[in-house]
Amino acid sequence: MKAAVYYGVRDVRVEEVETPRAGAGEAVIRVLRCAVCGTDKRVYLHGQKNVVPPAIVGHEIAGLVHELGEGVDGPPVGTKVVVATPVGCGRCICCRREQYNLCENFQALGYDYAGGFAEYMKVPARAVVQGNIIPVPEGLDPDHAALIEPLSCVLNGQEYLAAQPGDRALVFGAGPIGLMHAGVLKAKGCEPVLVADVSAERLEYVAELGVGTPVHTADDDPTELILDAAGGSGRAESGGERFDVIVTACSVKAVQGHALRLARKKARLSFFAGIPKDDPVLPIDTNHLHYNEISVFGAFASNLRHYHQAAEMVARGELPADRFVTHRFKLDEMVQAYETIEAGRGIKIVIDCA
Ligand SMILES: [Zn+2]
Ligand SMILES: [Zn+2]
Repeated sequence: MKAAVYYGVRDVRVEEVETPRAGAGEAVIRVLRCAVCGTDKRVYLHGQKNVVPPAIVGHEIAGLVHELGEGVDGPPVGTKVVVATPVGCGRCICCRREQYNLCENFQALGYDYAGGFAEYMKVPARAVVQGNIIPVPEGLDPDHAALIEPLSCVLNGQEYLAAQPGDRALVFGAGPIGLMHAGVLKAKGCEPVLVADVSAERLEYVAELGVGTPVHTADDDPTELILDAAGGSGRAESGGERFDVIVTACSVKAVQGHALRLARKKARLSFFAGIPKDDPVLPIDTNHLHYNEISVFGAFASNLRHYHQAAEMVARGELPADRFVTHRFKLDEMVQAYETIEAGRGIKIVIDCA
């Protein structure tokens, strides 16, 4: 079969490799589409510990069940599916609670195991048993189905925020994840939904997708700019002009500080994006959290429940999926796809592996 094989930083070659076969307990998926994630870009540009070359990456996968190994009681051959990324060990306390994304021995398809930038991919037995092969409606556009994985991660973060109609919402970062968060907050009835970014180009998509109000911020402290854009003076110490729900969807530590300063009483914050490992410590005025009852949440990947929710949302057309997919490339054009994402163009890039 054909696959995009990662040999190291900036070294991806599309070549013939052995087609996987389903052993006992395993399944093989015929990949239709695999979208490119920000983490795929990071692996391409910097490498990552759990991606040992030669490797096939890609984890935002939509395909068809192609082969079921002995003993697999899975969706029948030919079923249209998405494949969930986390592979739990099945033994740790998180796995026993079915929180596979938080497994103590976390592994993932498209990282530790071969992923979706290929014509076929194998789903290991543990992932099959865990329920990682998730059927989607027959008629669902595979481009749209490839958005289910990133949306599932967004829904994991949103679960903690419990946004209510009328909540004032703010999202930092107008990348695909920030735009999805804004779309979900909008759908939940938040008003306003502000999306802040330093890139005017990325902010154009905010209006185009109709997910909120763009705020072009400078690199230094953007809090005044955001409060101005939010309406009212915003400078009153009442906190009346600040936000109930805030998501940081960009890997910049200073933004987490800005988010805390823009939080209203009883606000819920999602530090959704991780920040560079070499400098993750942020000084926090914990009295600000204490007296104002502000909550800060983390979120990592997603669990199976979030995939099912995301699949239903995409199937019902609750996400403007067509407009999220701005670029399509054939598997042969994988290097071009990486160059496009490196240049920061578009929202979601989808690889057609069919
Ligand atoms: Zn992803
Ligand atoms: Zn585990």
